[in-house]
Amino acid sequence: MVLASIQRLDGVFLMRTLVLIAALAAAFGLILPGRADSGQFRPCIMAARPGDQAMAMFHEINRFDCKARQRGFPVGGAWLLSPPLRLLPDRPYVARFNSNWAIDVRLFIRYADGDIRQVGFTHDEAPRYMGVGGRYVLPIPVRDAAPVRLLWRVQQLTTVRGVVTGAEVLDAATLEERTLALSIVYALCAGIALALIVGHLALYVALRARFILIYVGLITVLLAFLFVSSGAMTILHPNLNIYLRQHAATLLFASGTILVLLFGRSFFPASIFTPQLRQMSNATIAALSLSTFAMLLFSPRQATMLDDIDSCLYILVVAIVPVVFLRASARRERGMTLFAAAWGLPILLVGLRMMVSLGLMRGSNVYDLVTIGMMTIEALVAAIGIVWRIHRLGLERDEARAREMAARMLADIDPLTGLLNRRAFLARAIGRETDQLLILIDIDHFKAINDEVGHDSGDEVLRHFAEGLRTVAPANALVARLGGEEFALLMPAPAAMSPTAIHKALRTVRMPFGLTVTCSLGACTGPMVSERAWQAMYRAADRALYDAKAAGRNRVKIGAPRVVAA
Ligand code: GH3
Ligand code: MG
Ligand code: MG
Repeated sequence: MVLASIQRLDGVFLMRTLVLIAALAAAFGLILPGRADSGQFRPCIMAARPGDQAMAMFHEINRFDCKARQRGFPVGGAWLLSPPLRLLPDRPYVARFNSNWAIDVRLFIRYADGDIRQVGFTHDEAPRYMGVGGRYVLPIPVRDAAPVRLLWRVQQLTTVRGVVTGAEVLDAATLEERTLALSIVYALCAGIALALIVGHLALYVALRARFILIYVGLITVLLAFLFVSSGAMTILHPNLNIYLRQHAATLLFASGTILVLLFGRSFFPASIFTPQLRQMSNATIAALSLSTFAMLLFSPRQATMLDDIDSCLYILVVAIVPVVFLRASARRERGMTLFAAAWGLPILLVGLRMMVSLGLMRGSNVYDLVTIGMMTIEALVAAIGIVWRIHRLGLERDEARAREMAARMLADIDPLTGLLNRRAFLARAIGRETDQLLILIDIDHFKAINDEVGHDSGDEVLRHFAEGLRTVAPANALVARLGGEEFALLMPAPAAMSPTAIHKALRTVRMPFGLTVTCSLGACTGPMVSERAWQAMYRAADRALYDAKAAGRNRVKIGAPRVVAA
C-alpha cells in the first residue's frame, strides 16, 4: 500500500506531504515550546560574593541584573532571583528548571510571612532531582503562608548553557499532568524509533543497501539521545555521575548529525550529492568528530569556546542542505525534491538551534524536545524516502535486466536480415537429441545481382530473401544467416518439411526491382548431438550444395553425413 502511494508521487501528493511535514514541524517547533514556556520566567542574576546571605539577597533586588546574559556568566557562584510569585498557601508546588554542569544548587523560598526555607542538591544528589523532560524538580515546602519569591544560589563548572534556565513554578497536580503528557510523547517517539530500527534491519538483511544500515544507526542514536535528554537515563540510574549526561548528549548529538550527513551521501545519487559536496561533508565530519572529541576531553573547561566552535560546525552542516536541495530539484524528479526538502528541514532547524546557542537568536528552553521532535520527523520522512528509493532501485534493476536481455538478443541476431546469426544458430543447434534435417541455402549468382543493382540493393534482396525464408520455414525450424548469401534451416527430422517443398515455396517469394532470384539447396539428415556431429553434417550438406551448384543451380541435392563416432 505504501509502495502504491509512493508510485503515485504526483504534485498533489508532494504538496500534501510538504504541508504535513511543515505542520508537524510547526507543532514541534512552535506550539510545544510555546505551551511549555507559558509559565516560565527568566530569573534576574548577580555574581555571588563571599559572605552573601540569602536573607539579605531577597532585599537587595536592585543589585540583580535582569537583562544579563547567563551564557558565559563568570563561574564562581551566582544568585538568581525570580519575579514575585502569585501562589496560594497550604498548596504543594514545585520549582522546575535547568542547570547544567551544576556543582551545588540551593533554592531559597521566601513566604508571605517573611519566613525563608531552603531546599537543594549537590552534583552527586542531582540525578535524584531530575524529572521527566530532563529538568530538575525541587518541591517547595508547604506552609500556611504562600511562597512569594524564589532565590537560587548556584555553583557550576561552566555556564555555557546558562545558570538557571527554563524555570517555572507548578502546582503538584499540573506537574503530574505534564509529566504524563511528556512521557507519552517520549514513549511514542521511542516506540516509533524501535519499530523503525527493527523494520529497517529486516530490510537491510533483504536488500543490503548501505543507506539502510546508516539509517538504522541514525535511529539508534536518536533513541539513545531520547533516553539521555528525556531524563530517563538519570531517573533509571540515580547513581550515575550527572556530568555523564552532558557528555552523552554531546556525543549523541554529534553522532546523529554525522549520520544524517552520511545518510544523505549514500542515499542521494552522485548527480545530487556531488564529489565536491562529498569532500565538504568529509571535512565537516572530520572537524565535527575532532571538536566533539575535544568537548568530551576538555569540557567543562574551555566549554564556551568549544561550544562556539561546535555551533559554527553545525552551521557548516546546514550549509550543505540548500545545495543538495537545489541539485535535487534541478533533476526534476518529484520524489528527490520532496525527499531533499524533508531531509534538509530538520537540519535547518538544528541550525536555528545553534544560532540560539551562539547567542545570535533568542530561543526557547525546550531545545531538547524540539530536537527530538525534529529527529523523529526526520526519521519518519527518511523511512518513506527509503521505501521510495527501494522502489526506484527495483525499477532500475528491471530496466537493467530489460536492457541486458535486449543486448543479448541483439548479439544473437544478424542485423541485416533479423535472422539468427551463425553463433546463435550453433548454440541452439548443437546438442539436439533427435536426428535433424539441415538445409544449406545459397543464392545463385549473387555477385551478378550485386553487380546489376548495386551493393545496397543487393542488401535489400538479402532482406527479402530472408523474410521469404522465414515465412516458408515451418514453425519448429531454426532459420539462420550463416554469412554472405548463405542461409541454414534446421528442424527435427521426423517432422521435417522436405527440402524440395522448401525450394518450391522459395520460388514464389517476390523479389524487389523485378529481379528473379533463384537458389540452390544442399541437405542432409543426421545427428547433431555434438560439435563433431555438426561438422560432419555441415560437410555433407555443403557438398550436396556444391553438387547442386555444379549440376546447374536452382535445385536441391541431398547428401548423407559420414557416420561419426560420438
Ligand atoms: P554462386 O551461384 O556460385 O553462389 O555465385 P555467387 O555469386 O552467389 O557466389 P560468390 O560466393 O562468388 O559470391 C557471393 C557474393 O555475395 C560475393 C559478395 O560480394 C556478395 N555478398 C556477400 N555478403 C553480402 C552482403 O552482405 N551484402 C551484399 N549486397 N552482398 C554480399
Ligand atoms: Mg551464391
Ligand atoms: Mg556463397
